[in-house]
Amino acid sequence: MSSLFQNYTRRPIHLVKGRGTIVTDANGKDYLDFTSGIAVLSLGHTHPAIVQAIQEQSEKLWHISNLFENPEQEKLAETLVNDTHFAHAFFCNSGAEANEAAIKLARKHTGKHTIITFEKSFHGRTFGAMSATGQDKIRNGFGPLLETFKTVPFNDVSALEAVIDDEVGAIMLEVIQGEGGVNQVTPEFAQAISDICLANGILLIIDEVQTGISRTGTRYAYEQTVLKPDIMTLAKGLGGGFPIGAMLGTADLHDSLGPGTHGTTFGGNPLAVAVAQTVLDNVFVSDFIGEVNRKSAYFIEKLSETLPSHKVVGSGLLLGIVCEEEVASYITAADEAGLLLVSAGPNVIRLLPPLTVTNEEIDQAVDILKTILS
Ligand SMILES: *Cc1c(COP(=O)(O)O)cnc(C)c1O
Repeated sequence: MSSLFQNYTRRPIHLVKGRGTIVTDANGKDYLDFTSGIAVLSLGHTHPAIVQAIQEQSEKLWHISNLFENPEQEKLAETLVNDTHFAHAFFCNSGAEANEAAIKLARKHTGKHTIITFEKSFHGRTFGAMSATGQDKIRNGFGPLLETFKTVPFNDVSALEAVIDDEVGAIMLEVIQGEGGVNQVTPEFAQAISDICLANGILLIIDEVQTGISRTGTRYAYEQTVLKPDIMTLAKGLGGGFPIGAMLGTADLHDSLGPGTHGTTFGGNPLAVAVAQTVLDNVFVSDFIGEVNRKSAYFIEKLSETLPSHKVVGSGLLLGIVCEEEVASYITAADEAGLLLVSAGPNVIRLLPPLTVTNEEIDQAVDILKTILS
């Protein structure tokens, strides 16, 4: 019997090394990794700049806790908020933790407890983040959740309007629901959220754990909408494979997160910060973002040429192929053909290559997808 809890359904593939988009298993078989460890490996596997950053920092200083000054953490925060309406960052270790911080900050700042979230959303597995998540399969069996979340249908203006009252402190959403099926917020819904928040003094929390850090073709996905979040959460792509999360907030919120109100031992330690800074120094460059958009357009065009009967959804290099049937067997067939994929909900094949993917790798992936889907 395994020494591990069996809380994951693992595929029978033992990966032992990776470079860029390519990973190799213990038998020497190569795969194109279009999962990127679930939108994590922004610069692909073992990128030389990240290897160097880890090597250099690991010989200097790994961890100091947040008892001491940390100018490198300060610089990383500045890089994240630069050219945005955000003023401050808090660092933690994962997406769920970033969302916990967001929920705590919103409740503390507004003094109100109700937070509106959406069906098919995913915000993480801790108690607050799980209560915020609009999927029963994530929540079942754990007893009473935090009672103060209300889940309403996504992209449904009247359903949202119907739950707004004086108790609502915040609305929390993903601009593109990553786990829930690559569902994008519609422009009408974004406008309605923006109007409702403004009219009622409600805070807007955007969860960009999956969509942020240039994944969708802008530094942050909200930049493609009218939405102006008060709080935003980041994780996955931020560390390029090293665990780090962040919560950004506006200047108005500064005083609500004073000394002793929130914290974490590991959050923003020197090693994590050195890696994340290296990621941002690469992926926040406008030429790099231009390339993400060019590759995205190329990928979408190839897919629509090759699979004309399938709808392609998403933005940048967070794309989905919508199928009428369940996609689990396609994912298994792709594993065998040497292309690693992950689903989003039961009917969508999610495409999450490293942002450094090449046109040739996209061509190879599309060839495999064609064989599998037609
Ligand atoms: C993955 C994800 C999370 C949870 O992140 P963890 O690091 O697994 O805790 C939260 N929100 C979104 C949108 C995600 O995609």
